[in-house]
Amino acid sequence: MTDICSLSLTALCHALQTKQVSAEEAAQACLTRIEATEPAVDALLLVDAQAALAHARELDAAGPDPAQPLWGVPVTVKDALCTRGMVTTAASRILEGFTPFYDAFAVRRLREAGAIILGKANMDEFAMGSGTENSAYKKTRNPWDSTKTPGGSSGGSAASVAAGQCFASLGTDTGGSIRQPASFCGCVGLKPTYGRVSRYGLIAYGSSLDQIGPLTRTVEDCARMLAVIAGHDARDNTSAPCPVEDYPAALAALSGDRPLQGLKLGLPREFFGQGLAQEVRDVCEAAIQQAASLGAEIVEVSLPHTDAAIATYYIIAMAEASSNLARFDGVRYGRRAPDVKNLEELYVLSRSQGFGQEVKRRIMLGAYVLSSGYYDAYYRKAAQVRRIIRDEYLSALQQCDLLCAPVSPVTAWPLGSHSTDPLEAYLMDAYTLSLNLAGLPGLSLPVGLGADSRMPVGLQLMGPAFGEARLLAVAHALECALPALGSPAL
Ligand code: GLN
Repeated sequence: MTDICSLSLTALCHALQTKQVSAEEAAQACLTRIEATEPAVDALLLVDAQAALAHARELDAAGPDPAQPLWGVPVTVKDALCTRGMVTTAASRILEGFTPFYDAFAVRRLREAGAIILGKANMDEFAMGSGTENSAYKKTRNPWDSTKTPGGSSGGSAASVAAGQCFASLGTDTGGSIRQPASFCGCVGLKPTYGRVSRYGLIAYGSSLDQIGPLTRTVEDCARMLAVIAGHDARDNTSAPCPVEDYPAALAALSGDRPLQGLKLGLPREFFGQGLAQEVRDVCEAAIQQAASLGAEIVEVSLPHTDAAIATYYIIAMAEASSNLARFDGVRYGRRAPDVKNLEELYVLSRSQGFGQEVKRRIMLGAYVLSSGYYDAYYRKAAQVRRIIRDEYLSALQQCDLLCAPVSPVTAWPLGSHSTDPLEAYLMDAYTLSLNLAGLPGLSLPVGLGADSRMPVGLQLMGPAFGEARLLAVAHALECALPALGSPAL
């Protein structure tokens, strides 16, 4: 087997189960690839080569187990997810050196399925950002062009998958943080329905918006990952008790020459207006055309409150962040300011030194919109608009089976280009964050390279609650019909 790292997760699983490749060979191939590519991409905050190899050898000694769907598959995990015995910081100084004694639910599921955790992926501090430039530790670069951002906040996860360092990664999506970096790095990224994957062990940003999901190289790989991490968990009371479908099997449901026959795809008018870069529009329209030639009926729909989504999202996300981050006080976890004189100074200095600029900004704005006197004008109003946005999604989804739109109005931007004006960066999330307000699932599918930038473009497919099987099946049919993007020349 020549280049193990260029296999898809699905192909690797087959090679592992049939003993063409050992778990140790797979882990070693990834570790070698990490060593070769990290200087260019800086995707990872931590690599535990020894633990990965030890786990691989243990697996090899026991032999392949068909009951473990990810037996021997090397993966990375966003640093917002707790990993037992492995430092977990959410890319913040305030959690420097924090070593959880338990795994997040999704991480535990990966381990039980036989996956090998190679290390922790870089991210924006506490998942606040769209470019992985808000990490307190390092800036990740896009494997397709190292002068550009990988997107964010799960930029380390996307870059590690695109660079061939692992076969899949877990990310989190509060307002687009799986779909947008997947789009920028040419990967598949899925934000499941709110409640589909337990958030137990996820360091919370906006608890009513956060969802954990996979980033992979193919749709089939994504289906396999989701099948492992989805499911009810009594320790997360927003986790949904509804049954988990057989996602990999669902892909076969749409086959033949016209696999999308009978399917209605709705294009929300508001996502194709001003501000959408021509090269993104062109690539997305060509992919939609392809869907039509596979039999899909294309209809126009409307989500009239789309322009209110950014303000609504940022009020709610910041309010929740300010309350979630109150627990980081220098007493219980991570970093504590040295040489303090009293308790108040301990809090003030630990938080001042521990949090980065963007996190501080959001804590302040969040506390402001929740404060008495402003609560009604901001938070309550945002919660009302959120309901309207959700209702509009539900009514659009009455008129079609799935919604289809670009993931981002632009391809990956040059590093540093939004660092002086945070508002500019917030505006870039226009096409992703309303879906989190609605709690619905969305998938980013790489559909081509932009004609000007030569950077990947992602098409977003959005569906009804718990409609992941259909979403994956449609994405798979489209992926099979479109030319492959290839991989970045690293
Ligand atoms: N860019 C958005 C934000 O900064 C979304 C981040 C995310 O999904 N975690 O809040």
